[in-house]
Amino acid sequence: MKRIGVLTSGGDAPGMNAAVRAVVRKAASYDMEVYGIKKGYMGLINSDFVRLDSSSVGDIIHRGGTFLRTARCEEFKTEEGQLKALKNLEAFGIEGMVVIGGDGSFRGAIALSRKGVPTIGIPGTIDNDIPFTDYAIGFDTALNTVVEAVNKVRDTATSHERTFVIEVMGREAGHIALYAGLASGAETILVPEIPFNMDDICKKIINGYKRGKLHSIIIVAEGAASGFDIGNKIKEKTGFETRVIVLGHLQRGGTPSAFDRILASQLGGKAVELLKDNIGDKMVGLVNGELLVTDLEKILVTPKPLDMNIYKLAEILSM
Ligand code: ATP
Repeated sequence: MKRIGVLTSGGDAPGMNAAVRAVVRKAASYDMEVYGIKKGYMGLINSDFVRLDSSSVGDIIHRGGTFLRTARCEEFKTEEGQLKALKNLEAFGIEGMVVIGGDGSFRGAIALSRKGVPTIGIPGTIDNDIPFTDYAIGFDTALNTVVEAVNKVRDTATSHERTFVIEVMGREAGHIALYAGLASGAETILVPEIPFNMDDICKKIINGYKRGKLHSIIIVAEGAASGFDIGNKIKEKTGFETRVIVLGHLQRGGTPSAFDRILASQLGGKAVELLKDNIGDKMVGLVNGELLVTDLEKILVTPKPLDMNIYKLAEILSM
């Protein structure tokens, strides 16, 4: 393969730039040319291509977001849209693709592979809801952002002896809530994967105050409940002064952590190795510190379970 393309798709995640940089520079080491596709699959359809050489990806490893931009593109889900994309790829002589994004983006990657363009997926989503990789690019940075925010809230929570409910992202998954909850010492962690009971939560808060706790921090995954609903119920049932914070999109931004940069570099490099050997329709991930290559089809039909050992530990430690 002499010429490949790379795009970022779905929600942006810190570390996507580091992955693009790795793709471009690893490809250069094999004398392969790289085109960056702007705005995800929309750029494939609109032929929004830009030639990337090693120097054009300089000074981006530390930047959040994605300099290629990202988008959600309904048209690419249609046969007509995919054929337009294919024509554009052919016109530019692009023989293989790297797609950095979440599971929706991988459906697009499968479509490309099936139409004869070998495509490798790289997991890039702060939600970390992709199986066959311990971490997706962006998760570690988002986690640290949440923990930093909770540290700040904790100062006020303690000073005013208040209950704080903090809603975090994660879509249908509770990975951000669980890991951030453990790392920030939250009293309660609510995740979509595990049912919860408001009476038990309130009892725990009341008991905590009786034992002399100065504050209570409840982390709620957006997929489990609305932070405001939980806050209102706690106020109703306990009478405690309760404040609600929705961290929202600030979780997606910021300079990527060292971990995310290293992960992105490893996955980007491996993706190019596979394309060089004409291998497509796979995702590259990192499991137990080792690079793992998995069929994209398998990614889509396998759920990523919450780490129950971490959940149980967080529960014990929050007593
Ligand atoms: P995130 O987890 O951050 O939301 P994602 O990759 O899951 O990322 P989606 O919005 O689900 O985000 O998908 C991104 C894009 O992938 C879509 O806008 C669309 O262009 C493409 N895509 C999604 N599903 C399909 C499909 N079934 N066939 C072809 N392309 C698809």
